[in-house]
Amino acid sequence: MRLSRYFMPTLKDNPSEAEIVSHRLMLRAGMVRQSSAGIYSWLPLGYKVMRKIEQIVREEQDAAGCQEMLMPTIQPADLWRESGRYDDYGQEMLRITDRRERDMLYGPTNEEQITQIFRDSVRSYRELPKLLYHIQWKFRDEVRPRFGVMRGREFLMKDSYSFDVDKDGARRSYNKMFVAYLRTFARMGLQAIPMQADTGPIGGDMSHEFIILADTGESEVYCHPDLLTFDSFNADVDFEGDLQPIVDKWTSLYAAADEKHDPGNCPVPADQLITRRGIEVGHIFYFGDKYSKPMDAKVTMADGSEVFVEMGSYGIGVSRLVGGIIEASHDENGIVWPASVSPYDVGLINLKAGDDACASACDGFFSQMKAAGLDVLYDDTDERAGAKFANMDLIGLPWQLIAGPRGLKNGVVELKNRASGEREELSFESALSKLTA
Ligand code: ATP
Ligand code: MG
Repeated sequence: MRLSRYFMPTLKDNPSEAEIVSHRLMLRAGMVRQSSAGIYSWLPLGYKVMRKIEQIVREEQDAAGCQEMLMPTIQPADLWRESGRYDDYGQEMLRITDRRERDMLYGPTNEEQITQIFRDSVRSYRELPKLLYHIQWKFRDEVRPRFGVMRGREFLMKDSYSFDVDKDGARRSYNKMFVAYLRTFARMGLQAIPMQADTGPIGGDMSHEFIILADTGESEVYCHPDLLTFDSFNADVDFEGDLQPIVDKWTSLYAAADEKHDPGNCPVPADQLITRRGIEVGHIFYFGDKYSKPMDAKVTMADGSEVFVEMGSYGIGVSRLVGGIIEASHDENGIVWPASVSPYDVGLINLKAGDDACASACDGFFSQMKAAGLDVLYDDTDERAGAKFANMDLIGLPWQLIAGPRGLKNGVVELKNRASGEREELSFESALSKLTA
């Protein structure tokens, strides 16, 4: 992409409405624009990052045996009356009436919808287990939308739902999602820690929030110090095998979020306990027959008896992650994208666009880089060099390839690593082989 043609409305100054660094940087880099409180348009650069995140989530769900589908954003209120949540959900739910005076709503989540689909289509225990997911916009009329995309009203979520005949099966499904989440966040360069979370009336140990530590996080979290030394998990796994040892390892040390933590009953001595703030990027939750019973979702067993299916739901905040990753990875000059979610692989900077020889050399580099499979953002504008550097640092691509008339005369370009700040002079060919290694 040539920057001269790209729609990337960057801002020089810090927008006054942004309280935290990720929100500031997303506005400054031209990634998003606010439409109304907690509702954002995603501009090309921001949307590209969100799609990369979404794709990692998708690949890891697929690898775990979860099947993608797509449910609507607008749901009929009657479905929610069946589960009893239409009244319980309160003001967070956006309620809509259609032209025939039917009560509708913009879905804040999809348990009811998926339970209806399941009960209308599945009859026998032989069809279980089933794991289904979709990646869809949600709306929650949050009391206090803030921090940009981190607590929006409209936001993109991946939500999965599991259906099993009994609790052992439900645990296997839960474990699949637990391990899929470890792999998903590791691929994004995040150290997300699974923390015990509220299980509600069902009790037990099958509710975990995945939390990344950040001072600006909204959750207060408590954990054993050794948990912070765990390497993030990215090993290959057989999702049909026994995943319990992996889950056991990650739950062996104490870690709990706000509501779950009880200082009077904490196994870690107070002087060792780590207390930090964190961002919830995912939540996995087993809830038994909470929805299957009121909504009559059951299957027939081998002996002819009928059982309500055991369910769980598993969410990831896809749009929140865009901000979350920036909170975890930035410096005073801007964003520092982990390569896996970076909008482009490399930024090519032409230091002197007005110089014909330099411009044609850079055009050639651009073609060769594209031909080598790199996704390149090419700054071919006639801005000052200083502004180009600042801009490239702000948007945080992992590499910058910088070319100017002086270097080119000696047959060299400069390659800069955004994260370390290291620069080296080398031939274009060496730079290219480094970038494609
Ligand atoms: P929170 O405690 O942050 O309100 P929640 O418990 O309501 O989260 P879930 O219903 O479990 O969240 O939703 C799954 C995931 O969706 C969360 O882990 C989070 O990453 C994301 N999410 C929830 N609410 C928002 C929001 N208002 N804006 C952006 N992402 C959100
Ligand atoms: Mg919430």
